[in-house]
Amino acid sequence: MDCFHCRRTAVGVCKFCGRGICENHLQAKPFILALHDIGGQTQALVVDDALFCGTCHPRPHPVPLPELDT
Ligand SMILES: [Zn+2]
Ligand SMILES: [Zn+2]
Repeated sequence: MDCFHCRRTAVGVCKFCGRGICENHLQAKPFILALHDIGGQTQALVVDDALFCGTCHPRPHPVPLPELDT
C-alpha cells in the first residue's frame, strides 16, 4: 500500500479511515477502543497514539441513528 499523501510506501494504516500513511505523514490521535459503564459513570478505554492520516475527520460526538431504533 502507498501513502495517501505522497505515494511513498506506507508504514501504517489510519485507524479511523484505512488510508495508508508513510513515515513522513504519520500523525497520532486518541482512539476509543471501548466504553465501559463503571458504577453509573461512562469511562472509555483509549489508545492515545493511534495512527491518524491527518485527512479524515472523525466526528467528536456519536451520531444518532433513529432509523435503527425501531
Ligand atoms: Zn507520505
Ligand atoms: Zn484517516
